[in-house]
Amino acid sequence: MLMLLNLLEITKLSQNELPLPYHTKLDSLSSRPRWRARDDNQASTMRIMVAIKRVVDYAVKIRVKPDKTGVETNNVKMSMNPFCEIALEEALRIKESGLASEVVAVSMGPSQCVDTLRTGLAMGADRGIHVEATSVLYSLTVAKILKSLVEVEKPGLLFLGKQAIDDDCNQTGQMVAGLLSWPQATFASKVVLDKEKQVATVDREVDGGLETLSLDLPAVITTDLRLNQPRYATLPNIMKAKSKVIKKYTPQELNVDIKSDLEVIQVTEPPKRKAGVIVSSVDELIDKLKNEAHVI
Ligand code: AMP
Repeated sequence: MLMLLNLLEITKLSQNELPLPYHTKLDSLSSRPRWRARDDNQASTMRIMVAIKRVVDYAVKIRVKPDKTGVETNNVKMSMNPFCEIALEEALRIKESGLASEVVAVSMGPSQCVDTLRTGLAMGADRGIHVEATSVLYSLTVAKILKSLVEVEKPGLLFLGKQAIDDDCNQTGQMVAGLLSWPQATFASKVVLDKEKQVATVDREVDGGLETLSLDLPAVITTDLRLNQPRYATLPNIMKAKSKVIKKYTPQELNVDIKSDLEVIQVTEPPKRKAGVIVSSVDELIDKLKNEAHVI
């Protein structure tokens, strides 16, 4: 199968790059309490698992390897996938509001994933799990690994980013929900948890606006950009994170065969865009669209 990755289309997701009104909206949203205050008589025992992926940093200009087998990752800044940061932030807020007892961050891939996990632990995750694999892990394999880990860890909620900005697959959350037969809400922009009823109410961003779903727990939620604004890790928390536990597994130990039916044949850059022109009037624009671009 020929898989062409449209590299220049990779979404740039820094919230700092959003236009100003968005900042205002995000700031006001993030200061709004959405969880009930901690009630020590009802200390929660729910565990939340969050899948965090190590990807090429969103600000890096992607380069294709000369042999077209993939994109260059040597000497390239790698970071936590921005949607995964949002997923982790939401899990931490739920825990801080007293509705969960533990947040476990999980990452799958090469040994350097431990750095991504340490970032997650510095943000506030309690424990990390690294499933070490040196070959490329496709979404279905990741979903199978997550399913096995869910069977070990028994979380009440599994958070994922809605998509990873390297492969833009947007399918791991849906796949793991299918494998687990758990309810799922993708593209979450608001999550409200009712611990007594064991229900999560999720607003999700769809083409026509917002859709609200009610999910019985345990459930899978994938996070969209406007859900929250992730925190920065503070220096003391970075120091504390060094002593937090990261458990290692191999896919084999979790009974997952990482052989995939997918093969990337070639990775190429999209064709270069031609320079634009400035038109002097609407009439000229319409004329060009009609007679040069032939789109109207
Ligand atoms: P994707 O379906 O590849 O766009 O990825 C969606 C989400 O699945 C990501 O935001 C992560 O939460 C999770 N995910 C995918 N691959 C990995 C991985 N190797 N390690 C941890 N999480 C992953």
